[in-house]
Amino acid sequence: MSYTEIVESYKSGELEADIINSCPLCQKKSHLLIKGKEHLDAVEHYLKHRHAFVQDLPFDAPVREFIKSGFCHDCMDMIFGKTSDEIKYVQEGK
Ligand SMILES: [Zn+2]
Repeated sequence: MSYTEIVESYKSGELEADIINSCPLCQKKSHLLIKGKEHLDAVEHYLKHRHAFVQDLPFDAPVREFIKSGFCHDCMDMIFGKTSDEIKYVQEGK
């Protein structure tokens, strides 16, 4: 089971949210930065309603998979053979 943390900020006057997942396979944490309330609302709705369709999320397939599964860059690459450069590791201890 992956675990998702959402950190919101308003850096340039626009809502930004860090979606932080710990990988269910290797436990490495990675994050995805999304912008705009619409996108954040879509993610929150999906996470709250596990029966919601991941296909409805307004993102590319690898990003949707990240939100759904929490797999990090490497594990996603290994499993699906494709990933998104938007998914970045969280630098621990910095
Ligand atoms: Zn992993």
